Amino acid sequence: MTDKKTKETRENISDNKTGRDRVKAAAARIADSIPEDRCLKDEPMSKHTSFRIGGPAALFVQVFTEDELAAVLQACATENAEHIIVGNGTNFLVADEGYPGIMIHLAGDFETVEETDDACCVRAGAAKLLSGISAFLTERGLAGFEFASGIPGSLGGAVFMNAGAYGGEIGDLVESVRLMKGDGSSITELPGSEMGFAYRHSSVEDSGMIVLSAVLRLIPDAPDAIAARVAELQAKRNAKQPVNYPSAGSTFKRPANGFAAALIDEAGLKGYRVGGAMVSEKHAGFVINAGGATAEDVLAVMRHVRDKVMQKSGIELEPEVRLINCSLQLKPEA
Ligand SMILES: Cc1cc2nc3c(=O)[nH]c(=O)nc-3n(C[C@H](O)[C@H](O)[C@H](O)COP(=O)(O)OP(=O)(O)OC[C@H]3O[C@@H](n4cnc5c(N)ncnc54)[C@H](O)[C@@H]3O)c2cc1C
Repeated sequence: MTDKKTKETRENISDNKTGRDRVKAAAARIADSIPEDRCLKDEPMSKHTSFRIGGPAALFVQVFTEDELAAVLQACATENAEHIIVGNGTNFLVADEGYPGIMIHLAGDFETVEETDDACCVRAGAAKLLSGISAFLTERGLAGFEFASGIPGSLGGAVFMNAGAYGGEIGDLVESVRLMKGDGSSITELPGSEMGFAYRHSSVEDSGMIVLSAVLRLIPDAPDAIAARVAELQAKRNAKQPVNYPSAGSTFKRPANGFAAALIDEAGLKGYRVGGAMVSEKHAGFVINAGGATAEDVLAVMRHVRDKVMQKSGIELEPEVRLINCSLQLKPEA
């Protein structure tokens, strides 16, 4: 049992509340601030993830404003209820049995993108999709974001993951980030240089802060030239990636010495399949949902890939996809 779990168990014993009780109590508080039609009970996460996989979240809450977000986070903190932010769900694998806590989804005010006083900067909300930011920037002749235009996530998820492609990373463009403390108690704006950006990592992962919006710095260029580069990169994606199948993009992070896709290909794993989950024939770095895959199918493929690559190359692959209420460790036999 992990330290976190041990602590949780101790706390549960000390106030006799189960995790389910805590979520129920937090849900009752949340109902005071968020309309009923935005508090969905037992909401299937397969509807909110690009993998199209995942059982129900005990509660799925849509928040439209910073005040609403603060209220939801404070309710979770007061009741010590398990919760997580879901962006566009494009890097999520949720367990078949679902998530026993509260999924918080930003929308409304968080979906904006606007010019700032600095002609080379824009501020975008955490829920704004990267494709939408790209369209806004192209129209205004602001370049530098082209690499991110085809990544299917939101800005919040991209900052959390320091998403990147074709030699660029979101962290390279971030001037500052507006963040809410994980318990909803305060808001701060940090410069990009203090965000701890590293390969597929930012300090948000460690601090538990919530990304509200970010200011991005771009470079002026002709809209036609930007549009041409966006189209070129999109064509590359379509040619190389299994874009017609549900997936969460690259399943594993790039190891220090090599490329995950090449290592998986060299281990002869293209097309390796368990149930509905399969290593893509087109791009070995992607596990796809080839039809009716469960989270357990995906995990079984991931375990096999990790083990075979380790045997063949001695390199340990680490998941890039966020595993929600599930893990690569095998469950003990019942
Ligand atoms: C077809 C395909 C292609 C892809 N290509 C790429 C690629 O080229 N490069 C790349 O880097 N990724 C790629 N991805 C993966 C994914 O799109 C990125 O990781 C993206 O940044 C995730 O954004 P999201 O909004 O979907 O986040 P989610 O998957 O919803 O969440 C990811 C993590 O961010 C956290 N999070 C989300 N929003 C916030 C917030 N506002 N505040 C705090 N934490 C938050 C979540 O809790 C979670 O831990 C691809 C995925 C697919 C399906």
